[in-house]
Amino acid sequence: MIIHSIETFSVAVPLTKPFKTALRTVTIAESVFVKITTEDGLDGWGEAPPTHVITGDSLGSIQFAIDQVIGPHLLGLDLHHSERVFQKLHRSMVGNSSAKAALDMAIHDLLGQLAGLPLVTLLGGYRDTLETDFTVSVNDAAEMAEDAARYVGKGFNVLKIKVGIDDIAKDVERIRAIRKKIGKEPKLRLDANQGWEAKEAVRAIGQMEDAGLEIELIEQPVKAYDIEGLQYVTMHTHTPIMADEAIFTPKDAVRVLQLRAADLINIKLMKAGGIYQALKINALAESYGVECMTGSMIETKLGISAAAHFAASQPNVTRFDFDAPLMLAEDIVEGGITYEGRHIRFSKLPGLGLHSELMNKRLLLKG
Ligand code: MG
Repeated sequence: MIIHSIETFSVAVPLTKPFKTALRTVTIAESVFVKITTEDGLDGWGEAPPTHVITGDSLGSIQFAIDQVIGPHLLGLDLHHSERVFQKLHRSMVGNSSAKAALDMAIHDLLGQLAGLPLVTLLGGYRDTLETDFTVSVNDAAEMAEDAARYVGKGFNVLKIKVGIDDIAKDVERIRAIRKKIGKEPKLRLDANQGWEAKEAVRAIGQMEDAGLEIELIEQPVKAYDIEGLQYVTMHTHTPIMADEAIFTPKDAVRVLQLRAADLINIKLMKAGGIYQALKINALAESYGVECMTGSMIETKLGISAAAHFAASQPNVTRFDFDAPLMLAEDIVEGGITYEGRHIRFSKLPGLGLHSELMNKRLLLKG
């Protein structure tokens, strides 16, 4: 199974409602799709969205990294020696985790096809289905409460609430308004996307704990580089704290784990550089007794299919933040995972379960 060619395509799909966090507002999901074709005619697919404020990757840099730098190193390699392929993938360029993730997904798609197994089965097959949360963008308290009620009405029982954009006292008000509107039942997880300072985070989280707002966890309260601040928040609150932007690589994970700077880790393929590295981060976390969530950037169902196959395969991945495809006005991906409300199911087809001929047709039409 020799890698014969690697192609990239840029795609764009509008969102039904702007996605707003402390770091950015997204109205159109832009992405690079990659297709690796083997000499025996099989296609493997991957995706990388540009997330300038988190990974530093752009549409242009992702395509350049794949087309001009990493891709040419992979041509002619045999997927029967996948470790050699992954070594080459990660050593041919530093950084560029999104481009690496897209190639890694396509390689894993092909490895599933080589084995004749869905990727989730090949990787361990721990879960048969997943349930995703749904994200409430940061807006004023009344709009967020309305959005939260609408999502709960659609059957989502875990909401991820974006905060950290302005005044931390306003964030506490936002959560009060949401709880008042939707009651005690739905789980609420907060994501400050680096928007708080350590001491104010501790004060605000304490207020939410005292008010009985029942927060399941809080993602990345402080700046990505501020590991000491993350540790301070974790040590001075009862609510579990999750590291997200603070951890890209297995080495980043080791530091956070050794310092006990977070209670939980959010693994994203775009930060880790794909499933090969995500498995290492998850194994490290598991050995420290730290559970992981798997989340995503604003990606189509292609990237999320890869993330879901990884997440479902591992017992230590216990939380799933895979709502991005549900925010898009159109589904441009043929095959892959399927959604029924919050439930995600896997196809029995090998690899990521994509319908390659239809994908080719659709991308040519778009092209
Ligand atoms: Mg996050």
